[in-house]
Amino acid sequence: MRFVLVTIFPEFFESPLQAGLLGKALEKGILNVERVNLRDYTHDRHNTVDDSPYGGGPGMVMKIEPLAEALDDVKKKWPIRKTVLLSPRGRTFNQKVAAEIVGWEEVCFICGRYEGVDERLVEGGFVDEELSIGDFVLNGGETAALAVLETCSRLLPGMVGNALSVEYDSYTSGLLDYPHYTKPREFRGLGVPDVLLSGNHAEIDLWRRKQALRATRDRRPDLLQESKLSKADQKLLRS
Ligand code: SAM
Repeated sequence: MRFVLVTIFPEFFESPLQAGLLGKALEKGILNVERVNLRDYTHDRHNTVDDSPYGGGPGMVMKIEPLAEALDDVKKKWPIRKTVLLSPRGRTFNQKVAAEIVGWEEVCFICGRYEGVDERLVEGGFVDEELSIGDFVLNGGETAALAVLETCSRLLPGMVGNALSVEYDSYTSGLLDYPHYTKPREFRGLGVPDVLLSGNHAEIDLWRRKQALRATRDRRPDLLQESKLSKADQKLLRS
């Protein structure tokens, strides 16, 4: 899968793309990330990418010409299937949207800054959709792009060592994850549930499923309403 990131801060991604699973996926070629510096598509001495808003008001607005030129060039270089503008006004990102994006295979993300981008980028069909990572406002689209990229990358085959980890992830399964414990067996008076030390894998699976159902019922009952629970799950939930 390829992510092309159009940004005025290509260096922003330097360290996250080297660390942990993302770094390994890039090395293995499971994931390709291209960073495109928006300032390379400006034609003035100061590499200007922003200007004051028509109608007045606070802040600056990202100009459409460098963005449109960058997108033309990106489309010449890579077979981009979808172009996405990160924006607090967009469709809310979640695990289902991540799976959809993975299906696009070649995507370009535009990272906004300042007060946002000239609306003609959306009106003129330069982007396929606007995507928000939640009901809050970041300084720029880079953090949002990274969150989307990292979530999508977990779904790529070969990315996470044990595919079951992803299957059991919160939201992927439709439920929140069950609780995890590791050594030591006792810490400052806090123990580990006996069943996890029993070696009985059928019992352990049942306990974990019950915990996942309980956590979802207590913390996110809305998810339970959306998911189609099996008869066995419904019985566990009642118990
Ligand atoms: N004036 C804008 C508003 O109130 O909607 C906020 C602009 S924000 C300071 C600058 C850029 O950060 C946006 O253009 C967008 O690319 C990015 N951004 C901020 N919050 C975001 C979010 N929740 N999801 C996705 N992108 C976000």
